[in-house]
Amino acid sequence: MGKITKQVLIVNYLINDDEPTVVKQKKCIHCKQLRDMDYFEKKKHERNHRNVCKICRKSNLRKLNRIKKAWLQIPGNILPVLGTACEVCGRTDKKLYFDHDHSTEKFRGFLCRTCNTAIGQLGDDVAGIMSALGYLIHAAKRNGDAVVV
Ligand SMILES: [Zn+2]
Ligand SMILES: [Zn+2]
Repeated sequence: MGKITKQVLIVNYLINDDEPTVVKQKKCIHCKQLRDMDYFEKKKHERNHRNVCKICRKSNLRKLNRIKKAWLQIPGNILPVLGTACEVCGRTDKKLYFDHDHSTEKFRGFLCRTCNTAIGQLGDDVAGIMSALGYLIHAAKRNGDAVVV
């Protein structure tokens, strides 16, 4: 165990039924709704279901495409060519993805999938990243280690 899972077990006691019915549900990290598991797709070769429900994924994708299309219509804005560095890790051998701020809906930059996912998982904002950074610095100090930047 030890691993925190967002999956929750909901036990429904039906009227006049001694046996509880166990329905497996999961909370969507986007809409915060508890939904049945069939609302969460499973990626190929992955054990876990997605954390965002089908409904949110669909509307997020539509929104992303709209923002990307509008951005591409601005003169001078072009998609990065192969070999362009990720704005976070600097790797040049990765495919880059259009990253935008979900609250302002503004384009942020082009990132590799790993960096884009990592930022998203830390809350997709400065507060989330700062919190993780603060944790690392605090942990290093507690261990008496130098903070390497
Ligand atoms: Zn959702
Ligand atoms: Zn990167």
